[in-house]
Amino acid sequence: TQTVTIIGGGLAGCEAAWQVASRGVPVRLYEMKPVRFSPAHELPGLGELVCSNSLRGDSLENAVGLLKEELRRLGSLFMEAAEATKVPAGGALAVDRELFSAYLTEKIEGHPLIEVVREEITEIPAEGIVVIASGPLTSSALAEEIGRLAGNYLYFYDAIAPIVTAESIDYEKAFRASRYGKGDGDDYLNCPMDQEQYQNFVTELLNAEKVEPKSFEKVVHFEGCMPIEEMASRGPETLRFGPMKPVGLVDPRVGVEPHAVIQLRQENREASMYNLVGFQTKLTWPEQKRIFRMIPGLENAEFVRLGSMHRNTFINAPTLLEPTCRLKSDPRLFFAGQITGVEGYVESASSGFVAGVNAARQALGEPLTVPPAETAIGALAVHITNAEAAHFQPMNVNYGLFPALPGRVKKKEKRGLLAQRGLEALETWKQP
Ligand code: FAD
Repeated sequence: TQTVTIIGGGLAGCEAAWQVASRGVPVRLYEMKPVRFSPAHELPGLGELVCSNSLRGDSLENAVGLLKEELRRLGSLFMEAAEATKVPAGGALAVDRELFSAYLTEKIEGHPLIEVVREEITEIPAEGIVVIASGPLTSSALAEEIGRLAGNYLYFYDAIAPIVTAESIDYEKAFRASRYGKGDGDDYLNCPMDQEQYQNFVTELLNAEKVEPKSFEKVVHFEGCMPIEEMASRGPETLRFGPMKPVGLVDPRVGVEPHAVIQLRQENREASMYNLVGFQTKLTWPEQKRIFRMIPGLENAEFVRLGSMHRNTFINAPTLLEPTCRLKSDPRLFFAGQITGVEGYVESASSGFVAGVNAARQALGEPLTVPPAETAIGALAVHITNAEAAHFQPMNVNYGLFPALPGRVKKKEKRGLLAQRGLEALETWKQP
């Protein structure tokens, strides 16, 4: 059988290598540490958690809990390492970072079908099946190579705006309209503000607590994706002439343009999630929840994603990738991990799982496969490859990505039912 080459021994690369080797296919895994370190990595081992040691909630009430449970059931090495090295963390699953990396390293290096090469890859190998899992801080030489494949569809910073569930929006206050009635006329939901609400909102933004950027992130604010609080600091009217511009948006209930407007754009085909347009931000999470719930119509907003802005190498997966993680333009190449536009440790491992299974299947001449969209693994894989390409930004797993449950379901019961349906779908998919 041909050898699968994997570039990057992080969370996705280790999971992919394990899945490939578990299917009897040899792997050559390239990791540039300790020859070269990204600005955030410092341990010599594989599978380094670069920041928090938490893999987030472990209950099925959270989609990330379901994602972990699915990975457990599928024999994920990431989850095996997490269970073996966990530390007490209430309802979350947290690990000892050094033991976690040591566990993964030992397992990967000890597998008879995996060869680990400590070397920076600067050119994508010209032959054979290759999985690119070089992460959010891919080395610059390799990023240049990926740029040759991806053209304009490779990014170096993300600009993530918060997303709220459709069912948590107050439609007594938010109204449907596109600017000057363009588009279908009602493409956007608009949350109107009067002058006093606007001024209070700007004041809160200016006084809010922010997340300090890492030293290697202090570089840029591209025009068109400046943090909302940074824009607010440029002058009291800046937001009204920017993302909160009311011009051409007449509130049908009163027949006039509001003083300012927050536009919400539909995030997925099912219209279960809405994105706060232009609200990329570095505010801390509690501050985002507090301040964005001041927006008329969002008082009870349920956030499925909060805003952030980071140095982050990622491709436009809706344009470039199949849900199997395979590159549309060159079926020899797969991408895995944060570089595909998933966001988070567990999500990166999940993407590594999908890429690993499919790289192995391709090497064995078998058809490719992805867990169904009802599972957390599948919902994430489907989302990143089917999201609207023009506004694509990284996504963490959340129940808003799942296909709706049939019929009316009590809110309290929804998550449990989604989790149950997901696990059943996973068990069916697992059958040979
Ligand atoms: P990585 O785990 O980064 O693995 C990529 C590997 O590829 C690295 O080991 C790197 O050394 C190697 N590599 C890169 N270029 C080359 C090359 N040319 N040749 C060979 N090897 C190469 N997510 C969370 O859930 N919680 C957090 O707290 C969190 N904090 C983060 C903090 C920072 C500073 C960053 C950048 C990201 C953070 N993330 C966090 C997001 C994300 O979950 C992690 O970055 C995660 O590690 C991504 O997994 P990955 O496998 O895609 O990449």
